[in-house]
Amino acid sequence: MNNADTKTQSFDIVFAGAGLAGLAVAVEMLRHPFFRQKSLLLIDRDRKQQNDRTWCFWATDDEPIPPVVHRSWNSCRFFAPGFEAVLDIAPYRYRMVRGLDFYHWAGRELEQWPNVRRLTANIQDIVPERGLVRTDAGDFEGDVVLNSAFTPIRLLPENTAGLWQSPLSVLREKAQTHRATFLLQHFKGWMVETPADAFDPDAMTFMDFRMEQQGETRFVYVLPLSTRRALVEFTVFSPALLPAAAYEEALRRYLQEQLCLRHYAVVEEEFGIIPMTDYIFPKRAEGRVIHIGTAGGFVKASSGYAFKRTLRRARAFAGAWAQTGVPDVRMLHTSSLFRLLDSVLLRVLHNQNDLGSVVFASLFRKLPPALVLRFLDEDSSWLDIVRVINAPPSWPFSRALAEVLLRR
Ligand SMILES: Cc1cc2nc3c(=O)[nH]c(=O)nc-3n(C[C@H](O)[C@H](O)[C@H](O)COP(=O)(O)OP(=O)(O)OC[C@H]3O[C@@H](n4cnc5c(N)ncnc54)[C@H](O)[C@@H]3O)c2cc1C
Repeated sequence: MNNADTKTQSFDIVFAGAGLAGLAVAVEMLRHPFFRQKSLLLIDRDRKQQNDRTWCFWATDDEPIPPVVHRSWNSCRFFAPGFEAVLDIAPYRYRMVRGLDFYHWAGRELEQWPNVRRLTANIQDIVPERGLVRTDAGDFEGDVVLNSAFTPIRLLPENTAGLWQSPLSVLREKAQTHRATFLLQHFKGWMVETPADAFDPDAMTFMDFRMEQQGETRFVYVLPLSTRRALVEFTVFSPALLPAAAYEEALRRYLQEQLCLRHYAVVEEEFGIIPMTDYIFPKRAEGRVIHIGTAGGFVKASSGYAFKRTLRRARAFAGAWAQTGVPDVRMLHTSSLFRLLDSVLLRVLHNQNDLGSVVFASLFRKLPPALVLRFLDEDSSWLDIVRVINAPPSWPFSRALAEVLLRR
C-alpha cells in the first residue's frame, strides 16, 4: 500500500467493479510475478453469491477458458423462415458458463494472494484525475483505476439511484451525439423444468427466428441441460425495450408452439440488456482511470457477445503490462477493420430492424458455420472476410456501408 492521507487508503491498482471484466483482469494479472508485488483492491457492491447470469460463447478445446464450463454442445440448431439446419460447428463447441461458478472460481484464484483485497461497497463517485474511488465504505486511491462499474466518461449520474439504467441512457446520448448507431440487445430467459422428458440434451438451439418479428430482430435460443431442464431465452435486437409482460408472453408462446410444452415450472429467470453500439469508446485513459468491460466497449457491437472477448483482452492487457511495466490501453480495442464491419452490420439492423433473420440465415446457409463463428470472433483471414461480405443480400449492406463511411 502506498502512502496517503489518513482518510484515503491507497493501492497500486483499484478495480471499480469486480464482475466479469474486473475479475478476469485481476486473475490474469496474478499469473505474472510483476503484479504480485502490487497492491490490488477490488470493489464491488455485490458479494457475487447469486447466479445472476449465464454466459454462452463458442471456443475450441485449445482456447484458454476458465475451468468452469457447465455444459457444452458440438452442434447447434438454427431455424429461420426458409432455412433450417443442424450446424456442425467443429472445431468449436458452444459452451455455457454459470455466472456464479465463474465468480467462485475467480474468488478462489484471488484468495491465494495476500496483496489482493476485496471490498463490498457501493461506489459513489470516481475522480479520474486523482484515481479516487469514493464509496460508502471510505475513499480509495489507485495509481491506476480499472473501471467496469460505469460506462465511460464522467458519467456518474448526480442521482446514484438506478445506476444500471442510467449508464445505458448516457451511452445512448453519447452515441447519438457522435452519430453512432445504438441498439439494445434485451432478453429474458427462463430455466424450465418439465415433469417428463422434453429435451434432447445434445441439441442446443442457437437461433430460432420462427416467431413474428414485429419489425424487429427476435429469436429464441434453447440450452438443454438435461432431458427435463433447459434455459429458454427470448432475445430482441431493437432500439427500445418491450413492456415487461411481452417477454414472458413470447416465452410462453414459444414453449407451447415450438417445444409443444404445456406442463413446466420456471425455476430460475434472468433478464439482461446489452448495448450494441459502434460508438468509439475513448481510446486513452481518462486521468488514472482505464475503462474495461462493457464500460470500455468490450461488447461486440453487432452481436452483443462479450464473454470470450473479455477473457482475451484481459489476458493480452495484463500480459503486456507485466512485460512493459505500464498499462497499454490499445490492447483493449478492436481493430479498425472489424470495427468498420461491425458498424455496417449494426447499421443494417438499424435501418431495417427485422433483417436479422435474413442476414444470419444467409450466412449459415452459404458458409461453413466455423467460418462464420471465426468471423464473429474477429479471427478471420482476408479470404474469409470476403466470403462473409458476399453472403448476405448486398443492397442493405451497400447502403449501410455508404452511411457509415459518410459519417466518418
Ligand atoms: C444477463 C446477462 C447475460 C449475458 N449473457 C452473455 C452471454 O451469454 N455471452 C456473452 O458473451 N455475453 C453475455 N452478456 C454480456 C457480457 O458478457 C456481460 O454483461 C458481462 O458481465 C460484462 O462484464 P462487465 O465486467 O463489463 O460487467 P459486469 O459483469 O456486470 O461487472 C460490473 C460490476 O460492477 C459492479 N457495480 C456496478 N455499479 C457499481 C457501484 N455503484 N458500486 C459498486 N459496484 C458496482 C456490479 O455489481 C458488477 O459486478 C450478458 C449480460 C447480461 C446482463
